[in-house]
Amino acid sequence: MTIAIVDTSHAAAVNLQAPLAFEDDKRHHGRQIYRLLTGNDPAEAVIDDDFNFDRHVIASILAVSAMEHGALAERAGLSTVELIALLAQLFPAAAIDSTWLPINGAAPAPDDDEIAMVRDLLTAQRSTDGDVSRWLAAMVARRAMEPNHLWEDLGLRERSELSRLLMRHFGPLASRNTRNMRWKRFFYRMLCEDDGFVMCTTPVCTQCNDFALCFGEESGESRMAERRREVALQEAANAAM
Ligand code: SF4
Repeated sequence: MTIAIVDTSHAAAVNLQAPLAFEDDKRHHGRQIYRLLTGNDPAEAVIDDDFNFDRHVIASILAVSAMEHGALAERAGLSTVELIALLAQLFPAAAIDSTWLPINGAAPAPDDDEIAMVRDLLTAQRSTDGDVSRWLAAMVARRAMEPNHLWEDLGLRERSELSRLLMRHFGPLASRNTRNMRWKRFFYRMLCEDDGFVMCTTPVCTQCNDFALCFGEESGESRMAERRREVALQEAANAAM
């Protein structure tokens, strides 16, 4: 079964006749999927209230996951059933269709010990009730397995959005990051302290060779912005030919 999303309420803003391009260029479609879900371009997201912020975060995770190879639900850290429930709850205006946002099969959520440890760490320290923080714990844990800064691999626009997400939904845990560690490294530090998970080679950070990895700046370019820049460069090169 292949399922996908068409937001009929914003059909005029997107080209619904371009399914082949989805396979040709998944990364380009990250932004399109974000627009289909929210009705806005990621750069114009309005996140002044908590509900819109949550929708922005989850649309960003789905968009960046859809830019990669593999089943969307797995890349986003959810089972297919969870993904469908999430879409129905947060993006009810987006109609399910077989063209956009492919969701392949009835796959279970990713089954990986490391993902489970991070997910359980987050889940145990939720500061909001309900499905959204439960889904987010799974999504953040899965995306933490990717190689870039966590905020980048969540598809967010900047690190501050990740900090807000963690403070909002996982406040007891996030508030322990008093030294502004990189978030992914902070999770592992918490696992070291709480569960004996091995990342830290010394008990004291200042004596550790990995200090820069844990406390270095978490700056960079969002993956959407990076893609926009690549497209602009490609268009300029094409125009020059
Ligand atoms: S700097 Fe070293 S000891 Fe401190 S959290 Fe990072 S890995 Fe662990």
